[in-house]
Amino acid sequence: MVPDRSPKIDVDVNAYRPTQMYSCCPLCASDNLRNLWQINGYNIARCGGCSLVFVRDKVTAEELAAHYAVSRDEAYDDTNAECLNYYYQLLGDLLRRRFPQPGRILDVGCSRGWFLDVMNGWECHGNEIVPADAAAARERHGEGIFTGSLEDYPRRENYFDVITMQDVFDHFRDPLPALEKCRHMLRAGGLVVIKVHNISCLYAKLTGSHFYALVPPSHLFYYDRRTLTRALSEGGFQVVDSKFIGHLLKVKTVFWRLSRGNTSSLTYRIYKLLDGTGLGELKFRKNLHDIITVLAVKPA
Ligand SMILES: [Zn+2]
Repeated sequence: MVPDRSPKIDVDVNAYRPTQMYSCCPLCASDNLRNLWQINGYNIARCGGCSLVFVRDKVTAEELAAHYAVSRDEAYDDTNAECLNYYYQLLGDLLRRRFPQPGRILDVGCSRGWFLDVMNGWECHGNEIVPADAAAARERHGEGIFTGSLEDYPRRENYFDVITMQDVFDHFRDPLPALEKCRHMLRAGGLVVIKVHNISCLYAKLTGSHFYALVPPSHLFYYDRRTLTRALSEGGFQVVDSKFIGHLLKVKTVFWRLSRGNTSSLTYRIYKLLDGTGLGELKFRKNLHDIITVLAVKPA
C-alpha cells in the first residue's frame, strides 16, 4: 500500500493546550505507529515501518523556547568540561586520521567551544543558541561563532570539510531539513558527524520507559544505527562508519541523569548530596553503547 503523505492532524481537544500529533512517521511516512509511553506529558511512539522512536506530539517552537528558558542541565557546567573533553579528544583523533590536513569545521550547537578547542589548526566555526555560551566560544574562536540556531545560520555553499552535531540532532523538531542544510554547506566528500543516544542499546531495552535519555521535549527523536542511517540516507548522505565511543562520567552525574531533571525524585536528592563531595566528583569511564556516533559523507 502506498503511504498517504498528505498532512493529517489529530487534535486532542481534552488537553489544556490543543496538541497536534503525527499520524504518519516523519522519517518514512508509514501510518503504522504504536504509542509506547507517556513521559512528561508527551507521547513516545515507535514506527512499525522504519522503527524510529519519536515524540508523537508536534511540539511548537514557542513551546520548546519556553521549555529551554526554565530547564538547564545542572550536571553539565564548566567543571564537567574535563569529562566532555575525554570524548572530544577521541573524536578529534578520529577526524585527524581521516583528514591529515586541517580543514574547515562547523560544530553545530557548539556550547562554549570545548570541542573546537581540540581541533587545533582547523578553521573553526560554530553556532550556539545560548548567548552566554556563544560569547564564551567566541572569545577563543573569534567571529566564526554564530549566536543562533542552525536554521538561522547563514548558508555557505560547499564550504566545510566537516560538520559535527553532538547531542543536538535528537533535539531538532525537523531533522531532515537540518541534514539538507548541512549537505548544502559541506563540500563534496565532506563529512557529517552525528552523536546521539542509542535507543536500541541493551541498557535502553532493560530500562524501557526509565531510560535516562527519554527526556521529552528536550529529546524529540530517539535514534539507533538503523534509523540514523535511514535519516542520513534521506538527507543525501552515505554512512561510512559508526562507533560507540566511551565517555568519562562523574559519579554524581549518574544520579542526575537517572533523575531526568525530576527534583522531587530520590535520585535527584542523592545527586544533590553527592554534589561537591569527593565521591560525587569521582570520574570513571563508561561505554554502555548508549551513545552512538555516526560518520557520513556527502557524495561527489
Ligand atoms: Zn517510519
